[in-house]
Formats: sequence, C-alpha cells, structure tokens
Amino acid sequence: MPIATVNPATGELVEEFAPLTEQQVDQRLARAHAAAATLRATDFDTRARWMRAAADLVEAEVDLTAPMLTIEMGKPITQARAEVLKCAQAMRFYADNAETLLADQPLADPGTVKASAAYTSYEPLGVVLAVMPWNYPMWQVIRFAAPALMAGNVGLLKHASNVPQSALYLDTLFERAGFPGGSFQALLIGAADVEAVVRDRRVAAVTLTGSEPAGRSIAAVAGSEVKKAVLELGGSDPFIVLPSADVRAAARTAVAARTMNNGQSCIAAKRFIVHTAVYEEFVEAFVAGTKALIVGDPLDEETEIGPIATESGRRELAELVDDAVSKGAVLRCGGAAVGTGGWFFEPTVLEEVTSDMRVYGEEAFGPLAVVHRVDDIEQAAALANDTAFGLSSSVWTTDPDEERFLIPRLEAGAVFVNGMSVSYPELPFGGVKDSGIGRELAAEGIREFCNLKTVWKG
Ligand code: NAP
Repeated sequence: MPIATVNPATGELVEEFAPLTEQQVDQRLARAHAAAATLRATDFDTRARWMRAAADLVEAEVDLTAPMLTIEMGKPITQARAEVLKCAQAMRFYADNAETLLADQPLADPGTVKASAAYTSYEPLGVVLAVMPWNYPMWQVIRFAAPALMAGNVGLLKHASNVPQSALYLDTLFERAGFPGGSFQALLIGAADVEAVVRDRRVAAVTLTGSEPAGRSIAAVAGSEVKKAVLELGGSDPFIVLPSADVRAAARTAVAARTMNNGQSCIAAKRFIVHTAVYEEFVEAFVAGTKALIVGDPLDEETEIGPIATESGRRELAELVDDAVSKGAVLRCGGAAVGTGGWFFEPTVLEEVTSDMRVYGEEAFGPLAVVHRVDDIEQAAALANDTAFGLSSSVWTTDPDEERFLIPRLEAGAVFVNGMSVSYPELPFGGVKDSGIGRELAAEGIREFCNLKTVWKG
C-alpha cells in the first residue's frame, strides 16, 4: 500500500510520500532512545507546560488540520473540527491530572509486610511504538500520545498509510510545543516494516489500534519479544431498545450512533436489537432518519455523510450487503454505491439478518445498520453477546430492573445507558474478546505504559 493522500471524495491522488529507508528508521529510533532518557528526568510541571503549549497549537491550527483530515479520509468537516478540538481537551486533561494519576501509592499498614514503609510508584517504560488507524487520524494518536508523554515515555507513530499528512503534522507538534527533540516522531513506513521496529531493543512496548488481524500479528511479535502490547481492535456494538425506552430518542440517537464518522468508528453501534413491542415504531423512525441524512462533499458544512475512506472499504460494504440480500435479508434503505467520483455509499438499513450472513458476525465499517427483532430481554442479551467482539454497547430502557439485568451480562468494555457510546478523556476505553487487550484514557490509559515499581523499606 503506497504511503499517500488520496482524496476519497474524488478518488484523486493528492500527494505520495517515499517510505523511510532502514537507515532513516534507525536514526529516528536512536533519537527516540536518547529522548527517553531526557524526558524521564523531567518533572510533571515541565511536561504539563509543554503539553498545554501543544494543546494551544492544536486549537490555533484547527483551520489547517480539520480540512487535512477531511481530505485524507473523508469525514465531514464539522466532525473533523470537533475531533481536533477534542484532542486539545485530552491533552489538557493529562496535563492537569497526570501527576495525581501517577502519584505514589503507600501501603497503609507497612507492618504487615515487615517494612517501615512500602509504596508503589509509576515509572515510564521508555520508547513506545503506536500503530494507528486512519479513521480518527488525530484523536487516535493523541489519546495515546498525551498520556504517554505525560508519563515520561517517548512515542513513535506508525500511522495508517492513507493519512501521511496527519502523521507529519503530529511528527512536529510536540517538538514545536517545547518537548525535547525525539520525544514524538512519525515513521513513514509500511505495515511490513513494523515487525522490525517492535523487535528493536530500543522499543519497550507497542500499542495498536486497528483491525483484529493486524492486532493479532503485532501481539504475536510483541509476545515473542516479551514486550507489553495494548490492542484496541474492531467492534460490532449492540444497541438494545426495550419497551420502556423513549423510542423516538433511541431512534434519533441510533442514526448518529451508526453513521458518525461516515459509519467508520470502532464504537459505532452496528447491531440494533429491538424488542418486538416497539420494533415497528423504532424501525420506521430509524429508517426515516437514515434516509434524511445529507450525503455529499465532506468539505461542505451541511454534509452529514462523506465518502468511505478507501475504495476497498466501499467494495467490502457492498459485498456485505449483497451477501445478506442474496440470503434473504430485507433492504430498508440504501445498499449501493452512489456518486460519480469518490467512494460514496448510501446509508443502509438491513432487516431479517440471520447467522449465515457475513454481516451477522463481521464488523461493517461504514454506514450499514442491521436491525434484529427480539421477544424478551434474555434474547436481547444473548444476541448482543453472540459476536466475537466486545468493545462497547448501548442500552435503552427506563426500567431499573432491566438496567440491572443487562449491565453485568453484556460482554463489552463499556455500557452506555440511554446514550450512544462515545469516548471521554475521563473514562477508560477498551474492549474484551476480539476487541482487544488493555485500556486507553483515564487513569488506566496513562498507567498502561508504566513500570509499577514496588518499594519496600526495612
Ligand atoms: P488496519 O488495516 O488494521 O490498520 C491499522 C494500522 O495497522 C495501520 O497503521 C496499518 O498500516 C497497520 N497494520 C495493518 N496490518 C498490519 C500488520 N500486519 N502489522 C503491522 N501493522 C499493520 O485497520 P484500519 O482499516 O486502518 O482501521 C479500521 C479498524 O480499526 C476497524 O476494525 C476499527 O474498528 C478499528 N478501530 C479500533 C479502535 C478501538 O479503539 N478499538 C479505534 C479505531 C479503529 P497500513 O495502513 O500501512 O496498512
């Protein structure tokens, strides 16, 4: 896959970049390794000052970066702007809270371990490689980089090959804000060159956000080197609607939950599991809302759905729909490619999907919703869990008993009750099953790449 910006709204090549040579990768690794020693020796206040300066730059440059994101991967410009500003928020969150989140934790009664004092402290691991996807070209990177740098780690970014301009922007961002040279660098390399970087003795750990096959492959390499790996992989999140819910609000939110980021979000709701008592009401409103979406030029402020990021991504969506329809699924709207240039796909709703159809089990990465009818809450939970994934989930009910029943039963890293799944710097984010290992954001995210050191004093 060439390292290139290809505008998905037009299909035109904007700019292609030569991958780094082995020697250039080695130079960056050496810089990162040297920076790790410098950064480890800095205090929280200094790092926080640099991080706030980086957040200021991100905010000041939003009119430059938001169109860049849109041109590289096709998200509507309004959503690109929101993504950039959310990055600044997360940077400030870690600038303000890292010291507290990583404070030493004393043992209340050290006598129980025959010590005069005992505590744990969090220390940086060193150089961490981040392999990142294209769907949120800035947010995915920042939510790794902000906690990692605030913990005193150094970041290396292998970004997706179709978002090189985003990678290059992030390559200079932290240094421009004051961080020591080499604290955060992008490596313009292909996927095949990642293994050697993970194996390099100067790299301490790796995090990958992306597809399940990529995660398995990187985790296997990291495992063979006994290096820590955090994996944030795919999802096929359930969105359960029960009779006590505000069905109109659920349907309205369902449209946004399925189609945000042109439907290309790991925590997009992908399977809508609706109780038979409110099924017709929900589906009617959901289909009407989906049909009303404005599909078009993602640089237009009015646009709600832009193109699929890659031609192959659009082909895969069409294949999922064709497979389902050929086996008896009912197409309520959409289902086909649209437009003359670019890789647009109509927002699509499928009913009567059965387990022999690919879309039942595979992650649909685009504006393609599957609606299932269930007779009771047990069936809803069973269907929600009948997936290899376990990222997030959404439950719509006003009945506390139903809430208490579902929250512990859903096999997922998160449950959002009467709301759609979203990420906040303050809340841990991650999945179970094939959706990954480990957590990003909040306290858990900043502690992932730390050595938890136990200190015992006699
Ligand atoms: P992808 O194809 O797995 O690519 C992700 C990154 O991994 C890219 O940088 C890619 O590089 C690299 N890569 C791919 N195969 C690799 C391998 N064998 N070894 C090393 N690196 C490899 O995923 P994507 O299509 O960009 O992103 C969509 C997927 O990400 C979806 O499944 C989505 O659900 C998931 N995602 C998960 C989260 C989460 O937090 N759980 C968040 C966002 C997205 P190249 O571009 O050079 O191939």
